[in-house]
Amino acid sequence: MPVTAGRTTATRVRRGSNLPRVGDYNQVVVLEAIRGHAAGLSRVEVAVLTGLSAQTVSNICRRLLEQGLVEEAGKQGGGPGKPRTLLRLKPEGRYAIGVHLDPAVVTVVMLDLLGQVVARRDRPLRPGAGPGQVLAEAADDVDAVIASSGVERERIVGLGVAAPGPVDSAAGAVVHPPNLPGWDRVAVRDLLAASTGLPVVLDKDVVAAAVAEMWAGGVGGTGSAVFFYLGTGVGAGLVLRGEVHRGASGNSGEVGHLVTGRGGAECSCGLAGCLGETSAPLHLVHEAQRLGLGRWDLDAGEAAGGQASAVVAGHRASAASAFAEVCALADAGDPTAVGLLEDAARRTAKAAVDLVDLLDVEQVVFGGPMWSRLERTYLRVVPPLVRSSVVSAAIHPVEVRGTVVGADVAAVGAGCLVLEDAFSPRSATLLLSH
Ligand SMILES: [Zn+2]
Repeated sequence: MPVTAGRTTATRVRRGSNLPRVGDYNQVVVLEAIRGHAAGLSRVEVAVLTGLSAQTVSNICRRLLEQGLVEEAGKQGGGPGKPRTLLRLKPEGRYAIGVHLDPAVVTVVMLDLLGQVVARRDRPLRPGAGPGQVLAEAADDVDAVIASSGVERERIVGLGVAAPGPVDSAAGAVVHPPNLPGWDRVAVRDLLAASTGLPVVLDKDVVAAAVAEMWAGGVGGTGSAVFFYLGTGVGAGLVLRGEVHRGASGNSGEVGHLVTGRGGAECSCGLAGCLGETSAPLHLVHEAQRLGLGRWDLDAGEAAGGQASAVVAGHRASAASAFAEVCALADAGDPTAVGLLEDAARRTAKAAVDLVDLLDVEQVVFGGPMWSRLERTYLRVVPPLVRSSVVSAAIHPVEVRGTVVGADVAAVGAGCLVLEDAFSPRSATLLLSH
């Protein structure tokens, strides 16, 4: 029986999952309580937090110890009565693999039960490589990561994939992502399950990033947040009252066509000033060139998702490194580069305000492959604009910050999708008890 009043009503059907379960609903609830207390929790405290009886908690904790999911973490004493044994998650109890299919690079990580990265590997996407080749290489990298970690395969719960949208969650497929040309209804979930022998779950990269932020404690409890994922394109991961919001089909958070103000670059949708266009690294490189900040002759590969090679002052560089040069100029105080990035930041702030107003969230979080380059400008420009503009400002503070997870947030999030599905009462585990 569910233990919190709020969850007894959560009987609607959630997305399916083929991950193996680690026990019943109550066991997952107990595990979640212990996970939330890194220093350890006594059985008595678990009973108080979950509302379960002492006997039920005792039985579940014995099972969790037998399964190697929790471990003893010393005694809690001092007061009257005998000291209580503390329990905490056993990091090496289980593991999860995360794979991030980025338009520029495929990253594979292995996470322990705490969500910490214990092994990692990445590989640039070769121009012209098709989905079959990319997924075969990803499977090789998964094997290599597992081998390098020394972890037995049976301790790995599953493999999560973070991919650019749109996705077909039910089919586990990516569907024509604009930033991955040639990926037309590719059944990523089934292909990787066949090649790795692991259960696989697939979500959009922005959803995975939001799950990573939650799993790391950046958005805790029943917190609500918008996670702006800044990569080749821009997307938003939504956390509403402690739950990631996937929408009807796993495709929520498409913010690329939010119009961010007057003027701005023309967009493929026919409007001007769309967030996806005005904040895209490739667009900013073009603008930098127009403003005389450098010479970048982007070749025909540009059309293939921003993977262009560029000729920069006589030497070859990728579009991403040309963008890095523009950002470095801004960080060094070049007024033209600063103006360029500040305009992108102001436009992003406008989109952030619209989303905060629409959803009434308490946090705006930035992350993704481009974040480290934009961080200085964005954290100077965006927070004051958000705080002075949002409707809820008089009611509650709105925090604007960078991710607590780091540059691999989508890959880590892909692994967290597995941990979340297997070990968190927030997700499909509800189906077991209803
Ligand atoms: Zn547009």
